[in-house]
Amino acid sequence: MSGVSIRVVGLVQGVGFRPFVWRLAHALDLSGEVWNDAAGVGIEAWGDAAALARFQERLRAETPPLARIDTLDATPLDGPAPSGFSIRPSREGVRSAGIVPDAATCPACQAEIADPQDRRFRYAFTNCTHCGPRLSIVTAIPYDRANTSMRAFTMCAACAAEYRDPSDRRFHAQPNACPVCGPRLWVEDASGPIAAPDPVLTVAAPLRRGEIVAVKGIGGFHLACDAQDAAAVAELRRRKHRDAKPFALMAREADIPQIAELSSHARALLRQPAAPIVLLPARPGALPEAIAPGQDRIGVMLPYTPLHHLLLEAAGVPLVMTSGNRADEPQVIDNAAAKRALAGIADLWLMHDRTIVNRLDDSVVVADPAAPAVLRRARGFAPAPLPLGDGFAALPPVLAMGGDLKSTFCLAAGGQAIVSHHIGDLAEARTHDDYRTAIRLYREIYGFEPAVVAVDLHDGYHATRWGEALAAESGATLVRVQHHHAHLAACLAEHGAAAEAAPAWGWILDGLGMGADGHLWGGELLHADFTRFTRHAHVPLVAMPGGDAASRQPWRNLVAQLWTAFGPDWRRQAAQVRTHLPSEPETRVIERMIETGTNAPLAASTGRLFDAVAAALGLSQRVLSFEGEAAMRLEAVARPAIEATGPYPVAGLDLATLWRSILADLAAGAAPGVIAARFHHTLAAMLADATPAVDRVVLSGGVLQNRVLARLLRARFAARGIATLEPRLFPANDGGLALGQAAIAAVSATRTPAPD
Ligand code: ZN
Ligand code: ZN
Ligand code: FE
Repeated sequence: MSGVSIRVVGLVQGVGFRPFVWRLAHALDLSGEVWNDAAGVGIEAWGDAAALARFQERLRAETPPLARIDTLDATPLDGPAPSGFSIRPSREGVRSAGIVPDAATCPACQAEIADPQDRRFRYAFTNCTHCGPRLSIVTAIPYDRANTSMRAFTMCAACAAEYRDPSDRRFHAQPNACPVCGPRLWVEDASGPIAAPDPVLTVAAPLRRGEIVAVKGIGGFHLACDAQDAAAVAELRRRKHRDAKPFALMAREADIPQIAELSSHARALLRQPAAPIVLLPARPGALPEAIAPGQDRIGVMLPYTPLHHLLLEAAGVPLVMTSGNRADEPQVIDNAAAKRALAGIADLWLMHDRTIVNRLDDSVVVADPAAPAVLRRARGFAPAPLPLGDGFAALPPVLAMGGDLKSTFCLAAGGQAIVSHHIGDLAEARTHDDYRTAIRLYREIYGFEPAVVAVDLHDGYHATRWGEALAAESGATLVRVQHHHAHLAACLAEHGAAAEAAPAWGWILDGLGMGADGHLWGGELLHADFTRFTRHAHVPLVAMPGGDAASRQPWRNLVAQLWTAFGPDWRRQAAQVRTHLPSEPETRVIERMIETGTNAPLAASTGRLFDAVAAALGLSQRVLSFEGEAAMRLEAVARPAIEATGPYPVAGLDLATLWRSILADLAAGAAPGVIAARFHHTLAAMLADATPAVDRVVLSGGVLQNRVLARLLRARFAARGIATLEPRLFPANDGGLALGQAAIAAVSATRTPAPD
C-alpha cells in the first residue's frame, strides 16, 4: 500500500471535479479524501502503486468537460491509510479558487429536456455540474447557492437528493432546479403578464409572424425576431435606432449551412461550452441585407440554454438575437428595466424569475482557420484565469484598469491573470457603474488587494481617473502604461512569456492611443519587454481635424490625408473620390484647422487611415454608426479580390504615393473591391518592409481584427523567415489592454530600470 498527495490547480471548482475524483477513486479501489481550498483541489489517496499511477493518468485524461487542469503535482505520502474515500466538506471561511464561466447546456441536460419521460422535460432552467449559469448569478463567494441568485429557490426533495449524491451529475450543482422547485417562465406584453400555458410556444407564433420578442437569457435580455424576415429585421433596426451595426443570430446547428459556410473548424468554435458568437462567411442572398449591412460575414451562435433550445425548436427558423437595449445603452438585465427600456421595441417579453446578477454580453470569435481569435471576451470565457509565464508568481498583485472602449480590467497575482468580462464603453454612465460594481465583485471573489494599480497614459480616460482614485485611496503604487506597449505586452503575456523575457518586436496597428511624446499613436513598430519599449517606426502622422469628430466622420480623415499628401492642391487631386465632400467653404475651415493645428491633433493612426480609404471608395456613410464600421466594410469588399491583386509600387511608409495610386485607380474606374484589396496588400508590404530582419513579430491592436490584413502580414513575414505571434484568447482590440497593463505594471513596479 502506498500513498500520494496530489495538488490540482486550474479550473477545478464548481465543475464537478471532486465527484469526478471520488468516482475515479472508487473505481480504482483507493482510499483517502478530496477537498477544495484556496489553491484549487487537494487529494490524498492510498492504494497499490499501479492503481495510484492509473489514477493520476485518468485524472488528466478524463477531466470533466468544464474543468481545466493547469498543474497537477504529486508527492509521496506516508502514514496510515484511512478506510474508504470521501469528499471532505469545504470549511467555513475557506476561500475558493474563484468562479468558472457560464457554460452552454450539456448533451445530457439537452437529452433530459427532450425526453417526455424525464421530470425535466421542456424545463427551461435545467443544468448540472457540466453546464449552466455561473458568473452571471454570483453575488459573493464562496460559490454556494446562498451566494447566487438561486438562493430565492429552495430545492425540492428530488433535487436535494441529486445535490447530495456524489455519484450524481448534479452533486453540488449550485443552480440545480426542476419544474417543481426552480425558476419559471412567463410571457408579458406591454400591459402586463398574459395567460400562457406554455410560454415558449406562446411567443413562437408571433415570432414567425414577424413580431419582436425580448428574451431573458443568461447574462441579459436579447431582442429576437425571425432572421429571414426582412421586414421584421428592418423594423427591429428602426425601433432600436441601430443603423448598421451587425445583428447576431442564434440558429440550430442543422440550419446554419443554409445561411453561412460552416467548416469543421467553425463548427468546433460554435460547439465549445462558451457557445460564443462565431463570425462565419455569409451565404450571399440567404439573409436580408439588413442583418449585417455591408458585411460579408455574419455572427452566429448556437442555443446555449434550455430556454434557447426550446425557443429555436418552436420558432423553427434562425433568430436575430441582438442585445436588448436602446441604441448605445448597456443590455438590460432585470425584468422591470426590460419592460421600461424595451417598451416600444419589443411586442412581447419572455421573462423568468432567476435574477441576472452580472450582465454578460455574448462573446465573439472570428472563424479563421489559421488564427481563430476572440474579439469580445465575455459570457462563457470570463473569468477563466490565464496562467502567466515564469517569474510572475513572485510579483506583487496588480489591478489593471484597461481603457474606455471595449473596457475590461485585470487582476494579476500569484502567477495568474484574471481578465474581467467585456464591460463596454465607459462614457455611458450605466456602463461605468457596471465597471465599478464588477471591480468590487471580482476583488471580493478573489480576495484581492492590489499593491499596484495600472492605468493608461491617457489621463482623459474614465478608467485612468478611477484607477488614480483607487490607488490614492488604498495606497497602492500607480503605474502608467503606454497604450501600444500594453497591446504588445498582452500578446506576450497570453503566450506565456516570462517576466524577464528578452524584448520582442511588434507592430501594433490600432485606432488611437496616447503616445509617449504627447501625439496620438496607432501604427507602431515597438521593441519591448515588460518594463520598457522603444519605438522604431510608425505610420506617418496625419492631423485629425475636429479631434473626436474625426473618429466618427471618415471624410474628415480623407481630407486630412489628401491635404497631407498633396498640400493645398488636394481638391483637384480628389475629383475622383467617391464620397460626397462638403462644399469648398466648409473644407476651407477643415484645411485651416490642419494648417494651424487648431483642434486637429496629429495621429499615427492605422484605424483612421482605413477610415479615409473607405471614404475615398464610397464605402462609408458621412457619420459612422459604430466604431470600425468603415474598416469592416473595406475588409469585406477586399476579401474576394485579394488573390487577383497585389500591392501598389510604394517604397517606405509613404502615404503620398499610396494615395496617388488609389486616386489613379479611381480615375481609371477600378472597382472599389480591387482598390481595397490593393490597399491591404500595400499596407502589409509597407509594414513588413519597414521591419528589420528579426526572428519574430507580434501583430496586435484593434486594426488586426481585420483577417485580410493579418493574413497578408503573416505571409509577408513568413516569406522573410520571420515568425508572427497574434492574440487568440484575448482581444487584439482594447479589450486586451488591461492584461498587458497588468503584466507591465507587475514587472515594472518591482524594478528600477537598468541604465541604457
Ligand atoms: Zn448539464
Ligand atoms: Zn426540484
Ligand atoms: Fe488600442
